[in-house]
Amino acid sequence: MINDYQAQKTLRDRYDVCIIGAGPAGITLALHLAKAGWQVVLLEGGGHEYAPRSQELYKCTSSGLELYAEETRLRFLGGTSNHWAGRCRPFTASDFAVQPPGNLPGWPIPYAEIERYLPAAMDIVDLPQGKEFQPLNAGLKGGDFDADRFLLSPPTRFAQKYGAALNETPGLDVFLNCNCVDLEFDQASGRLSSVQVSDYERNRQRLVARQFILATGAIENARQLLNSQSLQAAGVISRDGMVGRCFMEHLNVDMGTFILRDGQDGSQHQYYTTDAFVAEYRAGKGNVTTAVLDDVRTYGRTAEVKHFLENLACEMGVASKIAFIANFSCPGDGVISTMIEQFPNVQSHLSLLDEKDALGVGKVNVNWALSDDDRHTIKCIGSELAKQFAEMGLGFVKLNEFVYDPSLPLKLQPHAHHMGTTRMAASPEFGVVDSDCKVFGTHNLYVAGSSIFATSGASNPTMPLLQFALRLADHLDEKLKTTRKAV
Ligand SMILES: Cc1cc2nc3c(=O)[nH]c(=O)nc-3n(C[C@H](O)[C@H](O)[C@H](O)COP(=O)(O)OP(=O)(O)OC[C@H]3O[C@@H](n4cnc5c(N)ncnc54)[C@H](O)[C@@H]3O)c2cc1C
Repeated sequence: MINDYQAQKTLRDRYDVCIIGAGPAGITLALHLAKAGWQVVLLEGGGHEYAPRSQELYKCTSSGLELYAEETRLRFLGGTSNHWAGRCRPFTASDFAVQPPGNLPGWPIPYAEIERYLPAAMDIVDLPQGKEFQPLNAGLKGGDFDADRFLLSPPTRFAQKYGAALNETPGLDVFLNCNCVDLEFDQASGRLSSVQVSDYERNRQRLVARQFILATGAIENARQLLNSQSLQAAGVISRDGMVGRCFMEHLNVDMGTFILRDGQDGSQHQYYTTDAFVAEYRAGKGNVTTAVLDDVRTYGRTAEVKHFLENLACEMGVASKIAFIANFSCPGDGVISTMIEQFPNVQSHLSLLDEKDALGVGKVNVNWALSDDDRHTIKCIGSELAKQFAEMGLGFVKLNEFVYDPSLPLKLQPHAHHMGTTRMAASPEFGVVDSDCKVFGTHNLYVAGSSIFATSGASNPTMPLLQFALRLADHLDEKLKTTRKAV
C-alpha cells in the first residue's frame, strides 16, 4: 500500500527487506520480493509528483566536468524514469571480459550471470518478448563499426505503470516523502541494524529490517554510504576509500560534422565499435550517431569546405581516398554525436562535504574527470570513423580539433548515465560491493542500480541495472529462505 509518510508514520516493527529509493531499480526489487512473500518496505524521498523541497536535496557542487546532476535526476516516485528516453541496449559477454587499462580490474562475474534476466527485464520496460535488438542501418565495412543494436521502450514510466501494483501487492508498504537520512551499522554483528528516516519537518524515526538495499541512484548510493558515521566508525567505509570513486558517464562528444556524398542516405545512422576495434586500439567502446540536419540540408556546398576537407584528409593520412571529393556534391551537412565508454578511474569521484542539506545529510561534490585513456578512446573512435567514411565513399568527416589533440579542452555533454560509484569487485581493494551486490564488510547491506557497474561499456544503463536488480531479488529470496530455516 502507498502511504504518505509526511502524514502517516505507521511503520511496522520490523520488515524482511527495506529498499531505499523508488526508481526503476527499487520498484523492480520491491515488487519481486513482495510477490515472493516477504514483508517489504519501499522508502521514497519524494511524493507522487515533482516538488522543489525534494528536488533541492539533490543539489551538489561540481569541481570537474559539468554534469548537470541536479537538473537531470528526478527525486520523486519513479525516479529518473519520469523523463528517461527509453533507449535499451543490453551488455554483451565482451563487456564482462574486458580488462580496463590501469590497475583496476573489470567485472568479477561473467555476463552469463545476468544474461538470463534479459527477457524479464525487457518485459518490465514493455519490450516485446523475443524481439531482437535491431540495427537501424548496416555497419561500416572497415571492421571497426557494426550497426548499433537497440530497442526503444515506450518509454515506460515506472510510477505510472507500477503504481497500482505498488498499492495493491500484499506485504508491500510504500512510504512517500520518507527520506533515508542515516544508515545505522552495528559493528558487533556486522549488520546494518536500522535506517533513520525523516519527513520534511526533520522528524526522524528508526526503521528496522533484516536486509537493506540502497537504490537511490549512483550519486546518492555513494552519498548515503559516505554520510553514515557508524559505517565509518566501524571501518567499513572510509572517506578516502573506494566509495564514490570511479564515477563514470557515457561521453557525448561533439565530434564534428560530416558532409554526405551525393546519393547517400541522409537518415540517422547509428554505429557501434566492434570487439576487434576495442582489441586493436586498446580503446573503450562507443556508439556513434550520424544525422543530417534538416536546416542545413540544402546548404554547405562551398569550395571552402571542400578545400578544408582535402587538407584534413592529408593530415589524417587518407589522402589516397580523396579523389572523389572533386566530384563531390554535398546533399547536406550532418552532425556526429556519441555515447562513448569512460573507463573506471579513481580520480573521477564524489566526496562528502561538511555542508548539510535541509534534512541534515552531508552534501556531495562531484569531480567528474576523464583520463588519458578516455581521450585515447575518443581520438580512436573519431579518426577511425572519419577514415571509414572516406574509404566507403559515404562522405567526409570534419573532426573537431580537440578530438585528435588531447592537449585541447574537450567539448562534451553528459548522458545522465551515472555509474561506478559503488563498483563491483572481487575484493574491497578494488570496489565497494561483492559479486552479490553486498557492501564489503557488512552482512545485510546491498546496492542496486548502475553505481555497481565495474565497467560501463557503451550500453544504456537501465536495461542492465534491471537485470542486476532481478538477480539481486533472487539472491535475497534464497538468503531469506535459508535464514528463516535456520531460525
Ligand atoms: C534525460 C534522461 C534520459 C535518459 N534516457 C535513458 C535511456 O534512454 N536509456 C537508459 O537506459 N537510461 C536513460 N537514462 C538513465 C535512467 O533514467 C537511469 O538509468 C535510471 O532512472 C536509474 O534508475 P535507478 O532506480 O537506479 O535510479 P533513479 O531513477 O535515480 O531513482 C532513485 C530514486 O531514489 C529516490 N531517493 C533518492 N534519495 C533518496 C533518499 N535519501 N531516501 C529515499 N529515497 C531517495 C529518488 O527520489 C528516486 O525515486 C536517462 C536519464 C535522463 C536524465
